Amino acid sequence: MPEPGAPGEGRGTERRAPPLSPADRAGLEAALAEARAAAAAGEVPVGAAVARNGVIVARAHNAAVARGDPTAHAELLALQQALAALGTARLSDGTLYVTLEPCAQCAGAIVLAKVGRLVFGAYDDKAGMCGSVGDLVRHPRLNHRVRVLGGAAERECGELLEAFFAAHRPTA
Ligand SMILES: [Zn+2]
Repeated sequence: MPEPGAPGEGRGTERRAPPLSPADRAGLEAALAEARAAAAAGEVPVGAAVARNGVIVARAHNAAVARGDPTAHAELLALQQALAALGTARLSDGTLYVTLEPCAQCAGAIVLAKVGRLVFGAYDDKAGMCGSVGDLVRHPRLNHRVRVLGGAAERECGELLEAFFAAHRPTA
């Protein structure tokens, strides 16, 4: 079974699309399915899933509109679900899959929950804090560093967002 730490990981902002292991492909597919469900519900299409020992233990999508809560991001909700489901306060042996590079809030939550590994689909040049605008999850001054595989499904995850925003753009 391929282990975390495969070639292409941990290289900072390098954006070459890496070959995905079957486990990573499955995790990203689960996150993508959540992102599509978000779009169908009128939410910004970002989805997330948490896996441990090859089993997906939580999945969620953006719920900012439904909850009237701008902090209800997919990866934050998935992390909270996973912590509750596993009855733990840390996810050092877990992998978080998310279709879009996490923002500052979610990158902070990833560090606090000591997530072992992060795999995200598309970079977010406007708000991403895992290699784009900044990098909280690999900050040299923080005491937890996350292994990161970024840009793992740039096209699929990015197109979903582009289509959503094209459809919701004001026509005036
Ligand atoms: Zn976020």
